[in-house]
Amino acid sequence: MCDVCGQEVASITESDLYLRFILGEVRMEELTTSRERHIRCHPELAQFIVSSDFEPVHCQGVFAKEHLDAAFVAEQQARVTRAWRRLQDVAKKPIPLHEYPLPE
Ligand SMILES: [Zn+2]
Repeated sequence: MCDVCGQEVASITESDLYLRFILGEVRMEELTTSRERHIRCHPELAQFIVSSDFEPVHCQGVFAKEHLDAAFVAEQQARVTRAWRRLQDVAKKPIPLHEYPLPE
């Protein structure tokens, strides 16, 4: 269940937890113990996913990307979009969990 909207997180392709795992921000053992959340329900992170397959998420407030440094935003967009693409990809393949995270 999503911690924000209360709806089921039906697939890892829409899981904020797995996206952050691929980014190296969540450890493997935390996947089973952390609260789940939709990617779209975490706009501070989702705003950095830039793909024609992903409807853009607008983040309000001080963490909105229009208030952030342009170089930082470009870097985050490249990193988070790559992680999101990897998440869509690994969900379709029999890849072991420990190989999900990006190399860095
Ligand atoms: Zn949600």
